[in-house]
Amino acid sequence: MIADQVFESAKLRAGSLEAELRDWLTLTAPGGVLQKNNSQMVLVQKTFDTTLVRLRNYCTLLSNATPQAGISNQNFMEIACIDKIMREAFDLWGAYRTWFSQRFVGRFQSYLLATDGIAHDCYQAVAERLKALGISIDLRSYPITSFDGRYDSPYTIARGKRFRANHIQTLPVPMIAVPWNLQTLSWNSLAIHHEVGHDLDVDLGMPSKEIADHLGSELLKRQTVDLRVQAWQRWSKEIVADYFGVLLGGPAYLGFIAEYLARHPSDSIELGGEELHPVPYLRILLVAKFVQRVWGPTNPQVAAYVDGICTDWRNIYPKVQQYIVDFEKDFDLVFDAFQNLPLNCLTDRHGSRHPLADLCPHEHALFTKQNAAASFLLGDLSCDMDLKAPRLIPGAAQLAFERNTAHQSLNDRTIEAIVASIPDGQLGEDDDEDRLHERLVNRFVNELFTAFGETGV
Ligand SMILES: [Zn+2]
Repeated sequence: MIADQVFESAKLRAGSLEAELRDWLTLTAPGGVLQKNNSQMVLVQKTFDTTLVRLRNYCTLLSNATPQAGISNQNFMEIACIDKIMREAFDLWGAYRTWFSQRFVGRFQSYLLATDGIAHDCYQAVAERLKALGISIDLRSYPITSFDGRYDSPYTIARGKRFRANHIQTLPVPMIAVPWNLQTLSWNSLAIHHEVGHDLDVDLGMPSKEIADHLGSELLKRQTVDLRVQAWQRWSKEIVADYFGVLLGGPAYLGFIAEYLARHPSDSIELGGEELHPVPYLRILLVAKFVQRVWGPTNPQVAAYVDGICTDWRNIYPKVQQYIVDFEKDFDLVFDAFQNLPLNCLTDRHGSRHPLADLCPHEHALFTKQNAAASFLLGDLSCDMDLKAPRLIPGAAQLAFERNTAHQSLNDRTIEAIVASIPDGQLGEDDDEDRLHERLVNRFVNELFTAFGETGV
């Protein structure tokens, strides 16, 4: 009978997925090609493994319920659910498999090691701040980075989001994709900081939502026109990502994003009405404000850097309509919300709420150090490469590129420097309590098994 065959095939698929996961986990052993991806693979394996155990139990129940008759057509709905979940599990694992596999291609290895190192370091920096503040959010397992041709710009799928719209299963480990061509522009890896910002937004419990609500009511109090109120609220997720870009990457995030978004005026200075990103013209000026306020007070060089870029930016877009310029009236309010609003999602164990700014790891004289490192990357070995954290090196590379756009070996030297700054051994940490895994699996498996209704195990 067809139902029998589908049931047996699903069980066989489950067996091969288990074997796959075991094999891939061994590749993340110390010294293996994927050793830096150990914490990600552990979480992926545990999540699928829990699903498989639940499915196996359910299959046993189903077999025991009809020992003589075999699997009847009456059970077909349950069997079809098992089959659906297995197919989704294969599809999702297939995606992770592709992302992990890219690390076996020789010429991608260094770049992906570097971008993984940056993503890990960004997560680690925020995790350390959370710990110091006494906020119990576990950020285990940093995002996996990969090449992907789905869009022509970097993007991410955060933890807990669906890989495909019709899936029940969600991603246990966030994924950040960059277009293939970025591997020759290592200073553009500041895009990783932005995408990590989106993943942090989700893992921290959506500070962007709280900020959007706050901004909405503050702007209305000032009788701001609807167009601007709605736009700021709609843009809050992207602004959070830019804010993390500035916090985690340093002042040169501004230089990177200005070059990246310098497009034809028809794409840069007009508001269509539904965009999730701020109009590029405004986005650069807003990031400039963030850089100025976050890093400027500690270093007057930053003010000059920001002014230079803003002047240049305004010069390439001389004709901007007044309704766009009017958004600049809201910049101070917007900045204050992102920098200073105490957030419910960042409540510490004493009940105090913290603003996003508290997640900023303070790097003393960062801009000065990044400028010296830029000279080093351009070949001046008398300058110090005094940047120990992988996430800080792309900013130095951006400053180097701004000084000399024709430098031949800047890309290779940058990747080398990032790779050299990644800690030895495996990244991530072993946590016996494994709270994140528990939380994920509970949410994920329960949701998964609602497909079975009351009959679920
Ligand atoms: Zn974004």
